[in-house]
Amino acid sequence: MSTQNKAILFDRDGTLNVDVDYLYRQEDFCWMPEAVNALLWLKQKGYELYVVTNQSGIARGYYTLEDMQRLHKYMNDELKKYGTEIKKFYFCPHLKDGKIKEFAVDCSCRKPKPGMILQCLQENNLLAENCVVIGDKQRDLGSAEQAGVKGYLYQGGSLLEFVKKIGL
Ligand SMILES: [Mg+2]
Ligand SMILES: [Zn+2]
Repeated sequence: MSTQNKAILFDRDGTLNVDVDYLYRQEDFCWMPEAVNALLWLKQKGYELYVVTNQSGIARGYYTLEDMQRLHKYMNDELKKYGTEIKKFYFCPHLKDGKIKEFAVDCSCRKPKPGMILQCLQENNLLAENCVVIGDKQRDLGSAEQAGVKGYLYQGGSLLEFVKKIGL
């Protein structure tokens, strides 16, 4: 029965929130237009909501895992005030030539590789055909394609109007 679940896998920066380079501070966080309304709309339609995000700033030493997790908690605290939430954040902290040894890895999760999407599908018993990826970069679509999931390129404007326009 759980394989009937449907889900939207969102890129984070430039899709849910304004893309500030190497964002980790709550003070610098700003939702994209109508992003919260889009998430509420999708929840109402029965979609599970996930984030899949490249966070090479961790490998670069610009911020820590804990900094990122604090920001994700802030996002979900905000969303819960409105009655929705991101079920899980999938992130890639890696970069092949990163400064922080632990994360200087040529991994299989950094988009456009499909690792995070595949992990999300597997962990949550989701079928690729019941999922949609929404992101603002070609690498988001590339990772979706490699995972066999339909991907849509969002390029700003109301995220709510966008999800309605693509039929969600
Ligand atoms: Mg992005
Ligand atoms: Zn990775």
